[in-house]
Amino acid sequence: MNTVKTKLRKDYFGAGPGPLPGPVLEQISKDAAEYGDLNLSVLEISHRSPAYEQIQERAKERLRRLLDIPDTHDVLFLQGGASLQFAMIPMNFLQEGRTGAYVLTGQWSEKAYDEAGRVGKVRVAASSKEVGYRSIPSLSADIASPDDAYVHITSNETIVGSQWRTFPETSAPLVADMSSDILSRPIPVQNFHLIYAGAQKNLGPAGVTVVIVRKDWVESLSTSGVPKILQYATHLKNDSKYNTPPVFAVHAVERVLAWVEEEGGVQEMERRAKVKADLVYAAIDDSDGFYQGVVDPESRSQMNVTFRLASKELETAFLNEAKEAGLSGLSGHRSVGGFRASLYNAVEVSSCERLAEFMRAFQKKH
Ligand SMILES: *Cc1c(COP(=O)(O)O)cnc(C)c1O
Repeated sequence: MNTVKTKLRKDYFGAGPGPLPGPVLEQISKDAAEYGDLNLSVLEISHRSPAYEQIQERAKERLRRLLDIPDTHDVLFLQGGASLQFAMIPMNFLQEGRTGAYVLTGQWSEKAYDEAGRVGKVRVAASSKEVGYRSIPSLSADIASPDDAYVHITSNETIVGSQWRTFPETSAPLVADMSSDILSRPIPVQNFHLIYAGAQKNLGPAGVTVVIVRKDWVESLSTSGVPKILQYATHLKNDSKYNTPPVFAVHAVERVLAWVEEEGGVQEMERRAKVKADLVYAAIDDSDGFYQGVVDPESRSQMNVTFRLASKELETAFLNEAKEAGLSGLSGHRSVGGFRASLYNAVEVSSCERLAEFMRAFQKKH
């Protein structure tokens, strides 16, 4: 992949699907035309072929290396997005008589909680709803109760723009939706029973969801009442090939993981994430209130930077002028308003420099 030249990329800050690294886009475009010397497109190869076996194995190995995943855990490539995990987790792990404990930090954790409530008994273990999800609750003591089947958190709330700095310690199995910040920092995988992430923020294109799960947790529970396709046990047993996996999406993930490894791994992604987020937050914090951050400073996300301006007119002008300056994908989520700059791994530092520069110039002008 070193031989593929990075093309000039636009400054795109979309929240999801996010941008892919330039070299990966070039590589997968070629592979879509013809994959290696197989005389086939990667879109045409069989999921039972050695070529796909290699793609999936390499993707697993790379993810294991990058996140230091212990042997106790396996890696699955599933479909249905992070949203299907909202349902699969309680269907598999929320046994009769137990409770699913959810920490509510924003809209994604709310969705996970609502879905689990359709399956079984749930409770709110902690919440920052009263403060409009402006912060991550600070939890010192164990928040689990003896009846809890698991505690669920959302490591990064993509919509409001908040992020857990450190993870809670719980006596119940810890489950995390890491869709929007996986691979942006090292994580103690051994402390989690299950981690899931839709690929389209930091891992690749939409269409595949990565699940990292403790094998003994899956093996310890009976899920005979759950449809086969929705049992983790089925996918573990069949190495994610129970039904046809999304071959092209897994291939793209494998290429993204190779890119992350070449660039220096998750430590380097973390270093860059901090540099990038600091650039944009500084433009907010140095603005004397011209830009207002949505989230309290100690809970701010390094992936999704959210801010507002004082009036609708200013916000419209900001979007228009940003667009003229070649900066796109900055509209905030419709429920939050204002702006959201998503700074996923593939967003370059130089894009953030241009955004921060633009913000300062816009402030001066208005
Ligand atoms: C994007 C996102 C989701 C939804 O993912 P789908 O793949 O669309 O189901 C869930 N959780 C978080 C934190 C997200 O950022």
